[in-house]
Amino acid sequence: MHHKTKTALVILTATVMLAVILSRPPVWTRLSEAVEKVTQPGKPDLLPVTRIVFPVRNATISTIFLDPKYFDGTYGAALKGQWHTGWDLNWGTGDQDLGRPVYCVGGGVVVFAGQGAGQSWGNIVVVKHNIGGKTRWTRYAHLQDIQCKVGQTLQAGQQLGTIGKGYHNKWVAHLHFDIFQEKPLTWSHWPGGNKTAVLQYYIDPQQFFTTLKAVQP
Ligand SMILES: [Zn+2]
Repeated sequence: MHHKTKTALVILTATVMLAVILSRPPVWTRLSEAVEKVTQPGKPDLLPVTRIVFPVRNATISTIFLDPKYFDGTYGAALKGQWHTGWDLNWGTGDQDLGRPVYCVGGGVVVFAGQGAGQSWGNIVVVKHNIGGKTRWTRYAHLQDIQCKVGQTLQAGQQLGTIGKGYHNKWVAHLHFDIFQEKPLTWSHWPGGNKTAVLQYYIDPQQFFTTLKAVQP
């Protein structure tokens, strides 16, 4: 083989290999795709949601969607300048709610159950639902215990975990709950000060529960 031909062959091979590597989705995308395979439309786990309950029984809503007090630093300097993506339940009641049940708000399938990324979330569960023909994901965070598994079908009001204090007991016991209207890049998604991202990915739980006539679990 001529030297020139050999060089060309090496360059071609390297180019092809690089193209293959670059075209592969990152690990987290592949993992979430694996999860998606068990939750394809038409499967019983995505039957339309017919009943909606609140995630905690008789809870106090401590922090609301896009809460201005969260943003302005009232709830702690570390949170200042960040937009809250959903509800915090029972934050203002100390740790007396620690270990209380957290319920799945509607029928669906668990797509994530485990430790969230970073040093805040602690345990997270995400459930995928078919609500009025649209896909929605509910997220339950800072859990003390997780009582469900990925791929498991849950009914409205079925316990999926308990109220906890987040990563290394960082917070006063409370449930952080939010709803994705669009699939985020990761299940630990947190938009921080990016309000546009909050409005793109999340739904106001107040609007969600009112529209769907939620009842106590
Ligand atoms: Zn929160």
